[in-house]
Amino acid sequence: MRTRVVTVSLLAATLAVACGQAGDKAASQPAPPAPAAAPPTPVSNLPKIEPQPILDRIKVLASDEFQGRAPGTAGEDRTVQYLEGEFKTLGLKPGNTDGTYIQKVPLVGITAAPTTPLTISKGATRQVIKWRDEMVAWTKHVEDTAAIANSELIFAGYGVEAPEFNWDDFKGVDVKGKTIVVLVNDPAVPDPANPGKLDPKTFGGDAMTYYGRWTYKFEEGARKGAAGILIVHEEAPAGYPFSVVQGNLNEKFDLVTPDKNAGRAAIEGWVTLDAARKIFKMAGQDYDALKKQAATREFKPVPLGVTASLGIKNTLRTIDSRNVVARLEGSDPARKDEYVIYSAHWDHFGIGTPVKGDKIYNGALDNASGVASVLEIARAFTQVQPAPKRSILFLMVTAEEQGLLGSQYYATNPIYPLDKTLANINVDGVNQWGRTSDLTIIGLGASELDDYIKAAAAEQQRTLRGDPEPEKGFYYRSDHFNFAKQGVPALDPDAGTSFVGKPAEYGKQKRDDYTGHDYHAPSDEVKPDWDLTGAADDAELLFAVGYRVANADKYPEWRAGNEFKAKREGMVKR
Ligand SMILES: [Zn+2]
Repeated sequence: MRTRVVTVSLLAATLAVACGQAGDKAASQPAPPAPAAAPPTPVSNLPKIEPQPILDRIKVLASDEFQGRAPGTAGEDRTVQYLEGEFKTLGLKPGNTDGTYIQKVPLVGITAAPTTPLTISKGATRQVIKWRDEMVAWTKHVEDTAAIANSELIFAGYGVEAPEFNWDDFKGVDVKGKTIVVLVNDPAVPDPANPGKLDPKTFGGDAMTYYGRWTYKFEEGARKGAAGILIVHEEAPAGYPFSVVQGNLNEKFDLVTPDKNAGRAAIEGWVTLDAARKIFKMAGQDYDALKKQAATREFKPVPLGVTASLGIKNTLRTIDSRNVVARLEGSDPARKDEYVIYSAHWDHFGIGTPVKGDKIYNGALDNASGVASVLEIARAFTQVQPAPKRSILFLMVTAEEQGLLGSQYYATNPIYPLDKTLANINVDGVNQWGRTSDLTIIGLGASELDDYIKAAAAEQQRTLRGDPEPEKGFYYRSDHFNFAKQGVPALDPDAGTSFVGKPAEYGKQKRDDYTGHDYHAPSDEVKPDWDLTGAADDAELLFAVGYRVANADKYPEWRAGNEFKAKREGMVKR
């Protein structure tokens, strides 16, 4: 689970933007299609979801007995056993076509250490950039070592090629075998009408698109054949401090691909802003001037006239982790090979560094709560008669905390074809503080799934809110994103912020308290003051959305301008 600290002023300012945008986008669309030909069953007539069973399940999954549910540990065995047992009890079928509830997810753990420090050379002049303090790097290659040697450094702006925005930072310049230096976030293009602001027509304005995420920079650099990719870390556009980036130097898991990740660049890394300035200075370039150029369509890659060398060695271990998956068969023989997927990650951090004498990272909210909620949604599906026309898949994924790996594995090795997968609904953390009159949808405005959730929310007399901080790219930071990336419309709901009968500040105080004390800490445990009535409301909404999509006449689509729309349309036409 990702988390965010919401300040009130920022919240107010950005909510206006987010809601306005969503409203504008909705207004520019034709009237939303009716979710189904017949009027949908009202939410109030669908099976109820109660708070108590959600809480009971969280208590089991977050108990010390489950040891913090780390992949590759006894905690995984226990969790997988529990999930299989619950799926069987609910009468759900094995989700895998091999007749099991398991999809194996091969993972490799890589710990990188430097053998040769990052050395920038210009003629006889050399400069060493300090490992960890000034830069971090790793390789995704499943090999003992990786290196760049006297690799030419090229500044490639934001490292983006985005045809839909008529944007290409590479302009055909060959970067094969070279090392590119790129900026984080989307190209910061000023709004021609208001140069103090970002152009809402290009890369979503204030909202971050996938082109802004660091994972994209590494993927695009590899597609261009670069040997090394170094991202310049700046705290505001990255959305987090350099210490978060340094966390990558601990063991990181990755999927094992058939080519052992040889398609990735040999070296992926980050440099601090200060280190970048030093490198550009040595190259006789002005970092700020080049950064300014990079925010224009005319930008061309700039060879820096310096070379980079770096050697690293890997400590490797492989484990087989597991996604746990169950299926509810659709009632329409013509539609039952089509799917709506609910997902929640079961993993957390296991046993680690003790904090106040506690070393078990229970992950009650993150994400025992999401798993519990999806299990109760699954129960509701078993109670609705007749079953929806299409089939429903309940997918509990592994290794979210390691970089969304279980969901990436499913989305790239789907059990059922993605062109017959209508939607993904992901639950990562639930609201544990009582009823809200609203619900936050990260990425509101992205797809027609919004129409479904808006309608269901209205039936509960609730409203939707957009992401209060769209500039931080939260939409790209949980499991639903791996479905989006493959073209499947994906919904990323988050807790509401207006708590019924509570002062306006209540939600923010509670969230800040969780972020400051419990997020990714051993104290993420079930608390005596938890009130899951709001979580049960949210689960009923998400149940109604999936139920209606599974019965709908047409597939939900991405909105015009969304970066995943082209991918979806490139899939086999239905
Ligand atoms: Zn987390």
